Amino acid sequence: MAGAVPASRAAIRTQQLRRLRELLAATIPANPFQTRRLGSAADALRKVGSLSEFSRLTPLTSKDELVEDQRRHAPFGTNLTYPLSRYIRCHQTSGTSGTPLRWLDTPESWDELVAAWTEVLRAAGVAAGDRVMFAFSFGPFIGFWLAFEAAESLGALCLPGGGLTSAARLRLLLDLEATILCCTPTYAIHLAETARTERIPMAASRVRCLVVAGEPGGSIPATRAHLETLWPGARVFDHHGMTEVGPVTYECPVQPGVLHVMEEYFFAEVLDPCSGTPVSANQRGELVLTTLHRIGSPLLRYRTGDLVQPRYAPEDLDAPLCACGWGHPRPRRRHPWPRRRHDHRARRERVSGSGRGRPATVPGGGRISSNASPNPRVWPIWR
Ligand SMILES: [Zn+2]
Repeated sequence: MAGAVPASRAAIRTQQLRRLRELLAATIPANPFQTRRLGSAADALRKVGSLSEFSRLTPLTSKDELVEDQRRHAPFGTNLTYPLSRYIRCHQTSGTSGTPLRWLDTPESWDELVAAWTEVLRAAGVAAGDRVMFAFSFGPFIGFWLAFEAAESLGALCLPGGGLTSAARLRLLLDLEATILCCTPTYAIHLAETARTERIPMAASRVRCLVVAGEPGGSIPATRAHLETLWPGARVFDHHGMTEVGPVTYECPVQPGVLHVMEEYFFAEVLDPCSGTPVSANQRGELVLTTLHRIGSPLLRYRTGDLVQPRYAPEDLDAPLCACGWGHPRPRRRHPWPRRRHDHRARRERVSGSGRGRPATVPGGGRISSNASPNPRVWPIWR
């Protein structure tokens, strides 16, 4: 899996095509769900020659198809490339927007997901010596399980914060001198409000970074500003992902509010919601992802429901790579994958329809909610 760091968009595309071929070779015909969906295109896809050919031959995947497959083939469905005995993790979506989706991972897939979350934390500056508090009760949702292992892989001290009242969680955070707080934006606000009502002195906080996920608030300027006021000295780092695809983006260290898609793990397309064709630079479209790294339970051209606005057209090979400098080779502790030049800059406009976030009122963001249309032909765009 290890390889050179891509130095250009052309190199990124080459790397994606190589990983895509590996994925398709493993998936067809072993994976019943994918092989069935691809139908007569399956043979051609095993010899796919370009990413554009892949897009032309491969139908989009909707969440409803996955739900229906799991309903018919309970409990895990048929999107499985290996025998069940190969899988070691089971997670599921929250189900707030419909039937929960269960998702299985092999050890190899899980390691790749942890590596991707490690990039989220690296971008936020997390390193050995940090103390990372997870204000989260670990349940079926995948996100912070990965974050916990990712922080551990970076050498940080991990502080589980589940099963406590908010006041007790705050006192633990202060007593143990946590430097990083991982939670949803809504909960970070709630913790600060709890400090006020419980007269817990926030001035004693050592938290310098809030790594937020699960809701779109981390990329809403007013919400970011509100959080950074409530947590003096801390910067907000947003991230987004979904149980069924894993961590997708992280926030650029030098461009607050700009999210980078991790393109060594995903082939990302941004499609016009009406025409289904790729959007141009600075136009909004739906983020469609192919998971290059999750061979045990892959998704091909998955409609995420996320409305994004790419800074440039993803297929523009002349587009500059990000100036933040991430992606240069770095010492590795545990995960020997190639490091990306992150480049596909997208500003996320709304949370995915996978439905992790609770409805919440946030400054400047109005009423945000995590919903997905019950009708798969409707591409809900709201904010
Ligand atoms: Zn950047």
